[in-house]
This record gives sequence, C-alpha cells and structure tokens, in this order.
Amino acid sequence: MKQINRRKFIQSSSILGFSTLFFSAASSNILSLSSNGFDILIKNGAIIDGTGKKEFIADIGIKSGLIAAIGNLSDAEAKTTIDSKGLKVAPGFIDIHSHTDTDLIINPKAESKIRQGVTTEITGQDGFSFGPLGGPELEITLKNFKEDYGEELTWRTIDDFLDNFSKRKFSINLATMVGLGSIREFVVGLDDRAATAEELTRMQNEVKIAIEAGAIGLSTGLEYTPGSFANTSELIELCKAAPEYARVYATHMRNEDDTVLEAINEAIEIAEKSKSRLQISHLKVSGKSNWQKADDALALIDKAIERGLEVHADRYTYVAYHTNLSNLFPLWSRDGGNEKFLERLKDKSLIGKIREYSEKKVSNLDGDWNGVLISSVGKKEFKDQYQGKTIKQISEEKNLEPFGAIVNILLETENNVMMMGFGMEESSTEKILAHPRVMISSDAGSHAPYPPMNKSIAHPRAYGTFPRAIAKYQRERKICLLEEMIKKMTSLPADKLNLKDRGRIAVDKNADIVIFDYNKIQDKATFTEPHQYPEGIPYVIVNGEVVIDMGEHTGAMPGKLIRS
Ligand SMILES: [Zn+2]
Repeated sequence: MKQINRRKFIQSSSILGFSTLFFSAASSNILSLSSNGFDILIKNGAIIDGTGKKEFIADIGIKSGLIAAIGNLSDAEAKTTIDSKGLKVAPGFIDIHSHTDTDLIINPKAESKIRQGVTTEITGQDGFSFGPLGGPELEITLKNFKEDYGEELTWRTIDDFLDNFSKRKFSINLATMVGLGSIREFVVGLDDRAATAEELTRMQNEVKIAIEAGAIGLSTGLEYTPGSFANTSELIELCKAAPEYARVYATHMRNEDDTVLEAINEAIEIAEKSKSRLQISHLKVSGKSNWQKADDALALIDKAIERGLEVHADRYTYVAYHTNLSNLFPLWSRDGGNEKFLERLKDKSLIGKIREYSEKKVSNLDGDWNGVLISSVGKKEFKDQYQGKTIKQISEEKNLEPFGAIVNILLETENNVMMMGFGMEESSTEKILAHPRVMISSDAGSHAPYPPMNKSIAHPRAYGTFPRAIAKYQRERKICLLEEMIKKMTSLPADKLNLKDRGRIAVDKNADIVIFDYNKIQDKATFTEPHQYPEGIPYVIVNGEVVIDMGEHTGAMPGKLIRS
C-alpha cells in the first residue's frame, strides 16, 4: 500500500516539480515523506542519464532504494547528502559479460568490480553456468569448488543456485545466463558427437527449466569443451526452446581469429532462425593477420541489423586475452585430457608437429614470444620463476629457446598455468568499441588485492575495464561522446537483458548510481601489477545504499539477485 502511494506521489511530483510540491504539503502522503526527507540526496552533479542524452545539472533524491526525484532539490532534507559539484553522476555500470559467478562467496564485497562503478554483473557466460550441474566431470567440479571456496557445492540446478545466492549478502547485483555448454554436459556428456533427437528434447527442456527458474538468457562458448561439439542446428533448436522474453543468445563464438567472419555469420544465422536477440561476447579480430577484418566484422553486424535483426556485441578495453597456456597448442595434442597432453609434449615423434603449430600461432601475436605473458601458475614453487614474465624473458633467463621454455613450464606445472596473449591492437579495438551497438564488458571475475583473491596475476580488466573505457577511449582517444560511452555501460545492456528497473537515471528506477570525476577517472591496473583499484570514482550507490564512500568500501551489502 505504501509503495503505491509513494509511486503516485513521485509521478505527480516529477511533473509538477518536486521541490515546490515537497513543501506544499498537499496530502498526507507528501507530509509523511517530507518529514522523513530522502535517504540520500546527490546535489549539483552533472547527470548523464544513461540514454545518450546530453548531460544536465540537477539534484537526485533517493528514497527506499529507488530514485525518488530529479530536479532542483536545494531545500530538501536527507539523511545523507553528497555534494557532487564538478562530478558526473551516471547510472551504475552493468557488466554484461562477467565471470564473477561464485567469486562472491569469498569476495562478497565484489571489490574489483564495485570500485569501477559496476553495480550489476551478468554471469553464466561462455556456455558455463552454475546449473544444471551433472555429467562426467561433476566430481572434479565439486572437488575444485571445495578447494577454492572451502564449502560444499550443494546445488545442482539454476533454481537452487539462485536460491542459495539469494540467502547470501553481497555488494553488487547479480544475474545469470544459462550455459548451453553446461546443459550439454549434463545431458550428452563430454563426447564429440551430435545429440540424438531424444537428447535434444531433454536439452530443450533444461533450457525452459533454467529460464523459468530465473536465468536471463542463453550463453555459449563454442571454443570450449563441450560447447564446441554442438552444431549450428542444435544451437538453433535450443534457442527456440527459450521463452521469447529471455531469448537472448550471448555467444563466445566458434572462432575469434582466422575464421572470425564465418563465426559471426554462424551467430547471426542462429539468431535469425531462432528469432533470438544476438549478443556477441567480447567481439575481437585476434592475430596480426586478422586485424584488418574489423571493418568486415562490423559490416556483417550492420547488414544483419538492416535486415531487422537485433544484434549487439560487447568488448573489454584491452588488447590481450586471458586463457590457458595450453591454448597455444593444437587441439589434437590436448585430446583425451591432461595426462595425454603432457605425454605428447615428451614424445619426440610428435613434438616437431606441435612446435610448428605453436610457433605459427605465436608469430601472429603482437611481439611474438613477448606477446605471451604468464599470469598465474598453479604450483607455488614455480610462481617466482614464471608469474608476471613473458616467454621471451623466461627463455633468456633459463637459457632455453622459447618453445623449449614453454614446454618446460607446462611439464613442471602439469599444465596448470594461465597466460595473457597480446592478440589484438588498438586500431581495431577502437573501431569495435566505437560501434553504437557495442557495449563494455569486463570478461573477468571479481578480484581483490588481498588474500585469497590476489593469489594469481589477474587480467587488469578485472579492475580497470570501465574506468579505462572512459579515461582512455573516450577522454583521450575520443572514440565517441561521453554520454554515448556511458550508454554502452548502462541503458544499452539493461535494454538488451530486459532489466527494466536499471540502467537509467530516472524517477522510480533502482538507485544504482556511480559518481566520478571526469578529469581524474583512471584505471591503474597493469598486466604486471593488476591488483590496483582505479581512481576518480568517489561514490558508488547500489539499491539506494552507499557502497563506495569517498573512494572507500563501506562494507554495505545491498546487492540483489535478479531473476528473469
Ligand atoms: Zn569468452
């Protein structure tokens, strides 16, 4: 009842001008509100509302987790007042491709994300979601989870995952996709074969169950096992199974380098035939020989849009990707699992062929062996020797030729090592980021510069993606207007995902707000020193509670779990 009255009040007040009505005491509702005032009043800021509209100076009143008024509120009272003179006030950023997933169990403060101004994360990406869980590697998943998080993984379905998380407290809002790779593993297993008709029906059923439970779309990772075993028609049929309101198809495509254009065509075909709304994850043209394909890639997207399809993409603001070191080795050499891979690395009859493939792949990176940076090593005793160094450096220190050095690392660590690959460059990155249908995403989990979240060298994108988009690509490089850059982080992802109550500064929206200093905002994380918070973001508000106050985390945990 209270809610309805308050909403009615806000509607009338936003038409008539809030501050006049606020003190005119025309009805009992207004009186009760004025006696309490706002929870938070943000004064004198330059509001960038998230829609792309030009910024304007106004005050914002926040009450009960919602934006209650926008305008001249100079006479209003509030429990907390933030003077934002000289600062920009924007909707909280929405990270549309996040790997935070279960990171929140040990990092409920979501440090590396909230400090960037991210207030909502969309996980369950690249075909992997935390439900449905099953299939041949469930035991390994359970064991790893226990090791990583110190607790038992008790849920098996998306519904139970969401239930479990809804009982926890964290600083950020979270929503999840359902991964078609997870569904395939659950129903078909890890075999490289087409699904039978009966399996396809079961997978479709799992899609429906997950969406009804609250997953907000579908994701694939077609360069990973077992997602890569799904053919185009299987993916079309699975997308069709989703109810229309959640039929968003977010895809890490089948290829991002030599056959990236073919991969974009496949993604468009899947969306077109299943009537899905396409979201191409971390769009890139990787490898020197492919950099010139950026225009063609974007043209394919534009042509699909002209035909009436809804196509968007997202991209992080860095030129290096982050993956397993073994990714530099041919797929056949990794077939059958870890042990077989390590055996093949020692097999003199095979190593020549493996070397040929790996050296060719590395030669397509920027800086050759300098373009491979070891980011984390699973075995403690090797951390100092390798972590944070390029293969070129390591090979010089060890007096080995580079390929020999890389094989050595894999054998010593038993293939438990991650790398950054400098496969991209600035010009194509700028073209992609500037495209009006491209949003900003971190493609990273939530880290913190203290234990246990700092044990590996994170990709700097975990700390710097969003401030870097503003500082480097907008302020310095001017690839688009500031209002347009903010739109890529707010209303664009909100509209894509049907998050009707977020992504805009408007009356009645959830009060997710970031306040930043345009001249000072700066990412600080680097590839060798990634665990550094950005600067120039003094306030972040989530659901009407201040989480970052004068640059410091308040410990507030107002995050909500979002279901479709
Ligand atoms: Zn991905």
